Amino acid sequence: MTAPFSDLPLKPALLTNLNTLNYTAMTEIQQKTLPLVLDGQDVIAQAKTGSGKTAAFGLGVLQALQVERFRIQSLILCPTRELADQVAQELRKLARAIHNIKILTLCGGMPFGPQIGSLAHGAHIIVGTPGRIEEHLRKGTLKLDDVQTLVFDEADRMLDMGFQEVIDTIVDQVPAQRQTLLFSATYPDEIDSLCARVTRKATLVQVESAHQ
Ligand code: ADP
Ligand code: MG
Repeated sequence: MTAPFSDLPLKPALLTNLNTLNYTAMTEIQQKTLPLVLDGQDVIAQAKTGSGKTAAFGLGVLQALQVERFRIQSLILCPTRELADQVAQELRKLARAIHNIKILTLCGGMPFGPQIGSLAHGAHIIVGTPGRIEEHLRKGTLKLDDVQTLVFDEADRMLDMGFQEVIDTIVDQVPAQRQTLLFSATYPDEIDSLCARVTRKATLVQVESAHQ
């Protein structure tokens, strides 16, 4: 049995909401990463699909967020629109107790106009696919100067899809002084070189899936 979320130094509003959601105990990857994530450290985490990786980085992002500061404080990169939508949905669920929080998804295959309109209104958290994020940066419709937490979700798939160069371009525009969290279902060799470029003094946490 893993520990309860109440062992973590989370805002009371987040803890109350986790209870409401019936998230009683942490999953193994959450228990192993959240103390480091909440301490502001860089973390590289590998655990199989369905192990609760979204909340492992999501609670870190939400805990660090200052809602009264209406700036983009976190960027979460995902390989596909479908996955970005899932992450945004889970984040909104976890953030239900935080009023006025704005989470915006920016993905390819969607028209630019509404995205530019939404960006003009501002957001706290952006969840998106690398290609579209890079296009907004190029157009000048997105600025990442205030990002404090950069998250790579499903990093293995983003590398498979050839996003390496686009990712480098994006990372160049995020402040060097930041927390970087990289989550992946598998750990292929190429992840090492990505981690070397984007993380600093990161802790590697791997949860083996023993019964597969
Ligand atoms: P992964 O990203 O590792 O594939 P997800 O973050 O999508 O996994 O989580 C899988 C499912 O488990 C989601 O439906 C999520 O709401 C649920 N979940 C995550 N953490 C917990 C928890 N501690 N207790 C109960 N359900 C959880
Ligand atoms: Mg996931």
